[in-house]
Amino acid sequence: MNYVIEAASLTKKYKNFKALDDLNLHVPVGSIYGLIGKNGAGKTTLIRLICGLQKVDTGEYYIYGIKNTDKEILNVRSRIGAIVETPAIYENLSARDNIIEELTLLGSPTFDDVDELLKLVGLSDVGAKKAGKFSLGMRQRLGIAIALAGNPDILILDEPINGLDPEGIIDIRELILKLNKEKNITILISSHYLDELSKIATHYGFVDKGKMKKEISKDELINKMKHRIVLKVNDAKKIIPYLDSQNITYEIENDKTINIFSNIKIPKLISDLSKNNLEVIDVLEASETLENYFLNLIGSDDNA
Ligand code: ATP
Repeated sequence: MNYVIEAASLTKKYKNFKALDDLNLHVPVGSIYGLIGKNGAGKTTLIRLICGLQKVDTGEYYIYGIKNTDKEILNVRSRIGAIVETPAIYENLSARDNIIEELTLLGSPTFDDVDELLKLVGLSDVGAKKAGKFSLGMRQRLGIAIALAGNPDILILDEPINGLDPEGIIDIRELILKLNKEKNITILISSHYLDELSKIATHYGFVDKGKMKKEISKDELINKMKHRIVLKVNDAKKIIPYLDSQNITYEIENDKTINIFSNIKIPKLISDLSKNNLEVIDVLEASETLENYFLNLIGSDDNA
């Protein structure tokens, strides 16, 4: 698997408080990676480190395989466009002039891309209106246009839908999907709105108290949400030949747990296994909601 961003054992302390604690991260190329965690979990800190806004204490991260301590990291980081916390926009300038300002800063020889960027984020018709008069959703979209000015192939968005109304949320969702699908931009997006993230993310990283609790692809997560029969056994490996012989769809969760997704009769399963001297410790039926999965991973003592 190719990762555009990877982190290994990343730790960041504020005095004695570990905002990031041995955190690992793997953002696959072409993904929309949802970094999900409650307020204070460490999402912004992680993003600030990757964007070079703060220094790493211990551990390392890689952008396109280049280590954070390598001189090359500055070059490779220019392939990232980011909005960290709030979009950096000039209130007294129009959308167009904000983008021109950014292109100037980046040393762009032309401003040919401005119209396309305005169109891409749905701000073609705002004319000379100053950004200070924009709605929150428009500001967020302008922020994204500015982040795209350097023609990045990774876009990092820190809580981009915070405070947006439903229409604003839909606009941002569609824009993210468009950038990912049509422009092949890998997107790392942090949020504590699991529901919203689940509409777009192809991969998830669940962060809690500075640790990466679980990284999982959308497909794996959908599998977890499926109705299943959980078979607890002494040795999962010994059961496999029987399951294969019956064309049963399953997943080995660990050496003592098998998840069965086929529609089977539990009494027959138990009787067949016992006939083959295969011991079953427990069988239960399970189906999980996304919310439950999240809460099991990171606890429910907050408003996440
Ligand atoms: P939020 O969604 O609220 O921004 P987050 O997951 O992005 O949450 P961070 O902003 O990374 O979390 O903060 C992680 C922890 O580190 C929090 O407990 C926060 O109070 C603490 N923290 C962040 N920045 C600093 C700082 N400059 N000095 C001290 N503590 C900090």
